[in-house]
Amino acid sequence: MMRRNTQTDPDARSMQSNGTIKGLIGYNVQSAVDTKHHLIVAHDVTNNGSDRSQLSKISRMSKEAMHVDKLSVVADRGYYKGKEIQSCDDAGISAYVCRPQTSGSQATGLYGKRDFIYVPNEDLYICPAGEKAIYRYTTTEKGLSVKKYWSSACVRCLIKSDCTTGVNRRITRTEYEPALEVMATRLDEKPEVMAIRKSTVEHPFGTIKMWMGSTHFLMKRLSCVSAEMSLHVLAYNLTRVMNMIGSKQLIKAIQA
Ligand code: SF4
Repeated sequence: MMRRNTQTDPDARSMQSNGTIKGLIGYNVQSAVDTKHHLIVAHDVTNNGSDRSQLSKISRMSKEAMHVDKLSVVADRGYYKGKEIQSCDDAGISAYVCRPQTSGSQATGLYGKRDFIYVPNEDLYICPAGEKAIYRYTTTEKGLSVKKYWSSACVRCLIKSDCTTGVNRRITRTEYEPALEVMATRLDEKPEVMAIRKSTVEHPFGTIKMWMGSTHFLMKRLSCVSAEMSLHVLAYNLTRVMNMIGSKQLIKAIQA
């Protein structure tokens, strides 16, 4: 994200950082880097200030660029969104994104959603007290279909003070919860992928920012900024390939 002013660039927008708007006006640059050669395989420039709806688009672009049938992608918590994870699944892409610690219950020291075990064949949750929180009704929240569950045992529960301040603890389940649960299992089996993400994607971005001199884009308007970013990515990838195989081999490969 590079700073710009909406008065000098009408396409620039307010960007979010760690989920909050901090007054940074600019563009949102997405990039995907392959873990083997550390080349930028796909990039995109948007003026959407949030990363939350960006994962499936950049992942699909990466899959197409790499000509593979299956792909695993790793992203930070800012990309955690059920609809995006489901969209990746639908495209044959296995996403690895940690769940952000946004649970209000957990923040206040109460049991979090992960303390409730979902039982698919009965469509209910087993709560920390071993009681069944059964399905009650389905509602729509922010355009999402959301199922509600709770137990009738809350009123006489001995550990209720660790679970809820209400009459009963309500559990919600969106239509994308199955995809998120499968991803959580994937992450549990391969926790090392988050370290790989850090050592992969930050380096090219840091190098390009260093080349730019930590300043804003030279161009204005989304299409021109996209072209400018494409040139940065091309320069980065060419430099990287020359470092790996040498300029003679690169010229041979281009001519082939
Ligand atoms: S308060 Fe209700 S949901 Fe929470 S542990 Fe007790 S019975 Fe289970």
